[in-house]
This record gives sequence, C-alpha cells and structure tokens, in this order.
Amino acid sequence: MTDLDEYGRQAKAWLDDNAVDLPREPDLATARAFFARLYDAGYSGITWPSEYGGQGLSAAEERAFQQAARDVVLPVGVFGIGLGMCGPTLISIGTEEQKRRYVRPLLRGEEIWCQMFSEPGAGSDVASLQTRAVLDGDAWVVNGQKVWTSVARQADYGLLIARTNPDAVKHKGITMFIIDMHDPGVTVRPLRDMTGESHFNEIFFDDVRVAPDQVVGTVNEGWSAAVTTLLHERVSIGMGAARTERPASFEALSKAARDRDILTDPAVRDQLVDLYLQERAFDLFNARLTQEVKAGIFPGARGSIAKLLLADLTLSSADIASEILGPETTAYSGEGKIARALSWGPGMALGGGTNEIMRNIIGDRVLGLPREPQVDREIPFRDLKVGTQTREESK
Ligand SMILES: Cc1cc2nc3c(=O)[nH]c(=O)nc-3n(C[C@H](O)[C@H](O)[C@H](O)COP(=O)(O)OP(=O)(O)OC[C@H]3O[C@@H](n4cnc5c(N)ncnc54)[C@H](O)[C@@H]3O)c2cc1C
Repeated sequence: MTDLDEYGRQAKAWLDDNAVDLPREPDLATARAFFARLYDAGYSGITWPSEYGGQGLSAAEERAFQQAARDVVLPVGVFGIGLGMCGPTLISIGTEEQKRRYVRPLLRGEEIWCQMFSEPGAGSDVASLQTRAVLDGDAWVVNGQKVWTSVARQADYGLLIARTNPDAVKHKGITMFIIDMHDPGVTVRPLRDMTGESHFNEIFFDDVRVAPDQVVGTVNEGWSAAVTTLLHERVSIGMGAARTERPASFEALSKAARDRDILTDPAVRDQLVDLYLQERAFDLFNARLTQEVKAGIFPGARGSIAKLLLADLTLSSADIASEILGPETTAYSGEGKIARALSWGPGMALGGGTNEIMRNIIGDRVLGLPREPQVDREIPFRDLKVGTQTREESK
C-alpha cells in the first residue's frame, strides 16, 4: 500500500467515524464543531500553505480525500464563501499579516466570512458601486449600502469593495477592505427569499472606521482584487455543486416517473433524456476542471461555464420535476426537496453573476469574441449617472 493509499484509507476511516451521521443541514454550532474536528484531523485546507494554517499537502492528497468523501455531504453551508472565495483571495493578494491572522480560523470554522460587492444600483455592473471609504487620519471611514449579501448575519468578517477615489474612472478608485461585521456601524438586515428562508441580507455602513492594514491588495486597485474573488466564486459555485445533493436528478425523476407509470410517455422520456444530457455535460466539464485544478491549472474565466451549466441544470431539472410530479411538487415534505429546488433555482441564475453576464464573459474571455461596448469606461466616476448618483449630488 502506498503512502497515498494509506492517507485515503485513514481519511475514509475518519469520515466514517465523524461525518456519516451528520444531519444534512446541521445547526451552526454542530457545523462549527464539525469543521474544527475536520481541521484538527488535518482535512481542512489540505493544499493551503502550511505557514498560514493549511496542511501544505499536494493535490494528490486532496484527490485522495475527495475520493474518500465521495459519499458524504460535508456541511460547508455558511463556510462556503470563506473557503471558496474570501480565503483564496487573501492567499492570492492579502498581506503576510492578513494571511497569518485570518486563514487558520477560517479553515477551522471559527470565523465565518461574507462577500459584500452588490449594491442596490450595482449588480451585474458592480463597478458602479457607490459605497465609499474616505481616509480620515489613521482610518478609512466607510458609508453606504450593500445588498444580497449571503450569510452576512452569521459572518464575523467580510470582504467589501468601496469607492475610494471618485475622480478616477469607474474601474479605478475602488479599494477592497476586510470589515469586522461586529462593528457597531455595521447593520445587517435579513431579506426573505422565495424559499421562505433568509439566505441573503442588506447591509448598512454608518461611519465604520477601518484600519489601513485591513486593505486587501492595493488602494484604488480593488477592481482587480474583486475580479480575483469573482473568479474564485464562479469556480467554487460551479465545481462545489458537483458534490452536493441533487434532489431533482435524472435518477430521482426517472424513479418518480416510473412510480407514476408515466415513464413510457414519449414527452416525459424526451425531457428526461434532455436532463440526462445536461447532467452529463455538467459532470464531465466539472471532472475536467477538477483534474486541472488538481494539476495546478486555475480555470479562470472557464469557471463561468461551470456556473452557467449549473444554473441551467438547476432550473430545467426543477421544471421537469414539476411536470412529472404536478401539484405534489409544492409539498414541503417528502418530495418537498424538489419544491425547494424549484424556488431556489432562479437564484442560481443570478448569484455569482447572472446567466447573461456568464455568457458575456465566456464570449469575451474564453472564446475571444469582441468585447461588449463600454462607453463609460474612460469617464471619471464622479461624472457618471449610475446607481442613485446624479451629477449634482456627486459634485
Ligand atoms: C442567491 C444569491 C446570492 C447572492 N449572494 C451575494 C453575495 O454574497 N454577495 C454579493 O455581493 N452579491 C450577492 N448576490 C447578488 C448577485 O451578485 C446579483 O444579484 C447579480 O450580480 C445581478 O445583479 P442585480 O441583481 O443587481 O441584477 P441586474 O444587474 O440589475 O440585472 C438585471 C437583469 O439584466 C441583465 N443584464 C445586466 N447587465 C447585462 C449585460 N451587460 N448584458 C446582458 N444582460 C445584462 C441581467 O442578466 C439580469 O437579467 C447574490 C444573489 C443571489 C440571487
């Protein structure tokens, strides 16, 4: 038995002892306790640098762990944004002190992170953001509003992008900051979504003072920092979902059709074949990206393809499910998981960038097609009419 086989065997034994009986959606305390155990056992941040709290192992160990965990749904939940987006951003462009301070508690589930980019007037066109940070003596003072921020209520820290120089053009003069979500100037209000839950929130910043050492990357160069986070976000959403449960899968819906005696109906078969093809395309594309990531190749803009395929798959599988199950789809018990998928599905086509924006990115950065025209790129932000900004107010 090689060292790697032994590593995989130990990981499997650990997961059998610690993860198999986990509730599907554990409460926060249970999820935190699990992540602490996972970290202490050496299985959180397997390939992250050891000087910052990762395990410093290779892609081969990561692969062996994933293989061992293939039948387990880990309760990533509220930790997903930290693990998939904020942590990788800090590792890529954070200062030495930031990496030493924040990465280990993030990996151990001790500190939860959120990502504060979208605003009421800046979603797809996030560079229109108006939340501002002004240097006042020894601190940046942040004022403004963010919206649709996932897990902000549970978060201890968040990555914020704010405008720090309105005289610069739109994509310049933005800076990324680490925000302490427990600061008294930060107000988080939950927003109810179609599932009936409050997954995301709106956030208000009133004179929040942020020390200069909490700037991530370079002052006024926050756009490229944000792009780093967004690239990680799409890869993380697209690829992460490959390992989560699919309530409206081809397998589950074929069974539902068989149980209802409609599997021979040509229209139903047609839809199921369509679903099968979409699932295969998504799984195979993800398998390819996974192999590349393990070989040290970052997928970059191709993460948008995985994210787009996932959003399409989620929406069409929920649609097909409702055709097959009819009114039963709405029941919130038993097959109620499908009702949840149906009401959560549209959010997948928005969060992390909409399907239309993913298509723009794929056209421009993957296929090399001409860029979408951007007439406002060279105009100082102060002179643009974006969001709630008017020429008079901005002067
Ligand atoms: C479940 C969920 C979780 C989220 N979590 C977070 C989070 O944690 N942090 C965060 O910062 N944000 C988060 N968001 C916000 C998300 O990033 C935005 O909803 C998204 O970027 C779209 O912005 P918008 O809602 O303002 O829509 P808009 O940008 O106003 O778009 C409206 C419509 O116009 C289309 N459109 C816009 N521009 C173009 C274009 N150039 N070409 C073609 N079509 C276009 C869009 O595709 C869309 O259909 C989340 C959203 C959801 C649904």
